[in-house]
Order: sequence, then C-alpha cells, then structure tokens
Amino acid sequence: MPRSVGTSGTLGRPAPSRAWPLVLLLALILSAGCHRSPPLVERQFFAMGTLVTVSVYGTPQARAERAIARSERLFDRLDRRWHAWHPSALTRMDAALAAGRSIPIPPDLARLVREAGRLSRLSDGLFDPALGQLLALWGFEGDDLPARPPPAASIQQLLARHPSMSDLVLEEGRIRSRNPAVRLDFGAYAKGVAVDRAIDLLRSLGIRNAIVNAGGDLRAIGRHGARAWRIGIRNPDGPGVIAWLEVEGDQAVFTSGDYERYFSWHGKRYHHILDPRTGYPARGSRSVTVLAKHGGLADAAATALFVAGPDGWYPIARALGIHYVMLVDDHGRVHMNPRMARRIHFPAGRTPEVKLSPAL
Ligand code: ADP
Ligand code: MG
Repeated sequence: MPRSVGTSGTLGRPAPSRAWPLVLLLALILSAGCHRSPPLVERQFFAMGTLVTVSVYGTPQARAERAIARSERLFDRLDRRWHAWHPSALTRMDAALAAGRSIPIPPDLARLVREAGRLSRLSDGLFDPALGQLLALWGFEGDDLPARPPPAASIQQLLARHPSMSDLVLEEGRIRSRNPAVRLDFGAYAKGVAVDRAIDLLRSLGIRNAIVNAGGDLRAIGRHGARAWRIGIRNPDGPGVIAWLEVEGDQAVFTSGDYERYFSWHGKRYHHILDPRTGYPARGSRSVTVLAKHGGLADAAATALFVAGPDGWYPIARALGIHYVMLVDDHGRVHMNPRMARRIHFPAGRTPEVKLSPAL
C-alpha cells in the first residue's frame, strides 16, 4: 500500500546511492498492485439483534471479503450459543440453574460467567447479568417490545429474592446457583465479547486495519490509511451525531443509550437498561460512551455507568479501571473526565453544557 512506500524504516536508512532507483521502482510496483483493490472494503450483516458492519482498510478485496465472511459466521455461532431467549447453550444452562441442578459448563460460557462476575462485583452490582428474570418480567427478553410495565408487586417480589452473579458457584467444570431466581442474560456484555473475538479473528488472518461495529458499539484497530479512524457518537435526542472522536491503534468505543429499546406507556418512556436496586429502567442518563481496550469491558462498563447515572458514575468508572467516559444526562448536559474531553469533538455550533469530573 502507499503507506509502505513511505515507511521510513525501510527507505530512510542510508543505502548505496545506486540502489535507490531500484528500491523506489519496486515500491511503486508494489503500491500500484495494491491500488487495484479499493482501500476500504465494508460489508454488513445482521447478528445479535443488530446490524454489524465490518470495515477493512488496506487488504486486497478478495482477502478482506473472505475475512469478513468468516467474522459473520463467528457472530452467528456466538449468537446461537449465547442467545438469552432463543434456544441456545445459555438457555439450556439457565433452565438447569432455575431447577437448582449442577451441570457441566462449556468453556466459552465459563469464561463469560467468570469475567462478567468480576465486572459485576467491581461495578457494585449495577451491571448484573443475573437479572434475566427481571428482564423477562419486563418483557425485554423477546423479539417484540412489551406494551406496558409489569405490576409493581411482581417487581418487588423478584427483587426480594436478590438474584445476583455472586449466587453462582463454578467449580471443576460445573456450574450451579445457590439462588433459583438467577437467570443469566448477557445482553449488556456478549456483544462486546463477540466484537473482541471478531477482532482476534481478523488479526489472525493478517488484517491490521479494521473496525468491527455492532450497531454503534465497536472496536477499531490500525488506521484508515493516512488518517485515524473517525467515530461518530449518536445523538440520544435525534438523528445525527452528538460528538465524534478519532481512534487509532486498538480501542473499543461502546455506548449504552435509552433510545435502543423502549416503549411508552401513559406518556412515560420505559427503556431496556434496568437498575438492579429499583427493578425499574435506570433514571438520569440518556447515553454513556466508554473507551476501553476491550469490547467486553467497554460494553459492561457503559451499562454500569448508565445505571450509576450523572451523580454516581465516577467511582464506578474508577473501580472498573475505565479512563474515558462521556455521559449525556436527561437535561442534555455532558459529563466527562478531562482525558475524554481532550478526545471529544462537537459539531460546529453545537457544543453542549459540559461538566468535567476529576481525572480518571
Ligand atoms: P445496548 O443494547 O445499547 O448495547 P447495553 O449494552 O446497555 O445496551 O445492553 C442492554 C441490555 O443489557 C438489555 O437489553 C438487557 O438484556 C441487559 N441489561 C439491562 N440492564 C442490565 C443491568 N443492570 N446489568 C446487566 N445487564 C443488563
Ligand atoms: Mg453494555
């Protein structure tokens, strides 16, 4: 690619002057060969309830397309194993946990349970994938949206049983739950892990510059040619972006928002991110964007900080080891830590009121 022509590591070294024309000629031939492929290959598919876009830069088209097709198959496979309500390895395990049985746990699920359990503890239980029964009670475990909230008494009954990740016992390749009210739903986490797995796959196929974007939640590696990848962050209040930032190297950018799945009842909006302390949709946040090294961590953290809200996000971000946060509250104010503020750009003339936190 053109970048290899400019790689000073090769061309910048002192070389016998007669060798220069040959080196340059070779470089030009190589770059001309690469130019036959478009530099950016982008394909979309539907998985994990969202549109996934994979973008690959600087890889010959046929090779990029084969790699994207393999990442689509990977997403399909993980979706079928981790789905929370279509029959899957997870729903089979959930049935056993509810019946109080101890069963062998496959390695992929053991890793999810272990890591999600750790993140749940660090988030003070604000991210808790053991809340599947509460999500089902609300009707959010289904392909269609619910029409109305469940009775308050049913919510209180379930909360009184305190389902939590800490009820799970993993030992010698088996899992059981001390609490039959536990039902696992990795809706706030699985997409992040799947994005990480897809990035690992692309890298193993020799791809250096790519984005795996699952409905606005993404991880980017490398660059877009001569510039960094540019990432827009959706405006929770309408179409378009509220802000954008540049990413290069390797970073995940995940956003949890109240606009993703919601219904209205008697003029009130009920969305899909539940506060485990109240049993109701979390209040105070419209969206939370988190940057982190891995998609799994970024996904869980965005959900936890959304639940924590504008007054509670800072200590939870610290505990989770997150260094970049942007939270839009329900008055349209933007809360950020200074390091995030240095990365974020607002569209011209649309700078919102910003509240800076201490450093993270
Ligand atoms: P998005 O759907 O925008 O990626 P999230 O990553 O926050 O948003 O995931 C929301 C999903 O996470 C819900 O649909 C539900 O399955 C699950 N969920 C909701 N509240 C919680 C919570 N407090 N802890 C863990 N998972 C949750
Ligand atoms: Mg999440």
